[in-house]
Amino acid sequence: MDVDLIRCEYQGCQCTVQVPKAVIRQGKAFCSEACADGHGCGCHRGWCPSAMLI
Ligand SMILES: [Zn+2]
Ligand SMILES: [Zn+2]
Repeated sequence: MDVDLIRCEYQGCQCTVQVPKAVIRQGKAFCSEACADGHGCGCHRGWCPSAMLI
C-alpha cells in the first residue's frame, strides 16, 4: 500500500514523513512537533523520531 511522502516545511529540515504522520500547523506540514513549534527536530543529527528509515 503506497503512502504519500511529504517534505517537512521547517527551514533547513531534510525530513520526509508519511502524510498521515505529519504535523500540520497553519497549513504547513512538518515532520514533528519540534519543527512545527520552530525548534527543529534535529534530523540533521539523525535522531528525528518521525523520519522514515529508508
Ligand atoms: Zn522537520
Ligand atoms: Zn525531522
